[in-house]
Amino acid sequence: MKILKIDHLGIAVKSIDEGKNFWTDVLGLEFEGSETVAEQKVTTAFFPVGESEVELLESIAPDGPIAKYLEKKGEGIQHVAFRVENIEAALSELKEKGIRLIDEKPRIGAGGARIAFLHPKSTNGVLVELCERKD
Ligand code: ZN
Repeated sequence: MKILKIDHLGIAVKSIDEGKNFWTDVLGLEFEGSETVAEQKVTTAFFPVGESEVELLESIAPDGPIAKYLEKKGEGIQHVAFRVENIEAALSELKEKGIRLIDEKPRIGAGGARIAFLHPKSTNGVLVELCERKD
């Protein structure tokens, strides 16, 4: 498996509109636009930082994963995403190594990326996302 870089940090916020001011006005990051991923019941907003990005996540439904996260833990870093060269190869290698997978197969995330999550029980409590994209 080849990890290329940290693709992005996923940060759960109550509201992207209110939350984005810190990242844009205070830190001076560029707001690259937002996108709703209906399947995940989430709207995402990306802010490039060098080779990586900050991804703000706002829930669009009370039973979505981000709504549940906010309820339990409040706003904060929800996941770390690693860019991999080949997501299928990475998933089968991790499975062989006994890592618990949330997604056995990649699905389509924001920006058309192919993504899959690993279970925090196998990763020192960190929700890890693998992500393969072309750009
Ligand atoms: Zn993500």
